Amino acid sequence: MAVFSSLAEKLQETFKKLKNKGKLTEADVGEAMREVRVALLEADVSFKVVKEFIGKVKERAVGQEVLESLTPGQQVIKIVHEELTALMGSSQSKIVVSSKPPTVLMLVGLQGAGKTTSGGKLANYLKKQGRQPLLVAGDIYRPAAVKQLQVLGEQLGIPVFSLGTQVSPVEIARQALDHAVARGYDMVIIDTAGRLHINEELMGELKNIKATVKPHEILLVVDAMTGQDAVNVAEAFNHELGIDGVILTKLDGDTRGGAALSVKSVTGRPIKFAGMGEKLDALEPFYPDRMASRILG
Ligand code: GDP
Repeated sequence: MAVFSSLAEKLQETFKKLKNKGKLTEADVGEAMREVRVALLEADVSFKVVKEFIGKVKERAVGQEVLESLTPGQQVIKIVHEELTALMGSSQSKIVVSSKPPTVLMLVGLQGAGKTTSGGKLANYLKKQGRQPLLVAGDIYRPAAVKQLQVLGEQLGIPVFSLGTQVSPVEIARQALDHAVARGYDMVIIDTAGRLHINEELMGELKNIKATVKPHEILLVVDAMTGQDAVNVAEAFNHELGIDGVILTKLDGDTRGGAALSVKSVTGRPIKFAGMGEKLDALEPFYPDRMASRILG
């Protein structure tokens, strides 16, 4: 089972027909776009996103240069590739590193999305880039979250700052920053509480941490396999808290791609990393053009 495989299969079938046709009419393009539309909706891409996407592709594809070119099918596929890439944010969005270390990254998200694991993966990724990350155990509510992060830190050889579960997350974050400054860590990754649902208590606490430590980036961790739910969660977090980017986890199990294709367009915030498995090196920068290539084959 490959990433985006069910979506890819459908789109590739549609485009194979187009390519085999040779010369194309406007009606041929229209028919293909109807199929693309259905495939995207089945992949759980948000309705509004699909509508705009199809509109853009159609407008470009029925132009004379395309239809009268020697390879109209190829041209249409190229346009779809470009528009899919644009939909996911065009170019890769990197983490913004502060000119005055430490750079503080705050990870937020709902329980089970993969937040704690992603914290470890991100620290590992940054360490490989020559950074000195410090992980901060700020999820004091989920039983064993602190321990989970400590185990991850041990496996990776990355220090974990913890004050147990009796000190408030705001205080933990504050002291972690002092600790990082004193010890010369240049990247601080704060794990925060996740709940089953978005509620005022959760947001209130996250807002307090944000106000206290003023993170350079707030990264929302969402589960790709939840499709539109992931997009709705992203919209809500962005509205309530403000986020700078998304870590999209479990893309390795996502055959549909609805969240990957909708998040940027719906929230205006880019996907910065993709989780590609349970292992601690399974985190990749999110490249929109490569993702589009995966979908179109
Ligand atoms: P949290 O509650 O958000 O902190 O979630 P965890 O970090 O504990 O992760 C929940 C589950 O998702 C764990 O079993 C992780 O191994 C798994 N997980 C996290 N990221 C990925 C990913 O990218 N791919 C896969 N296949 N599993 C993941």
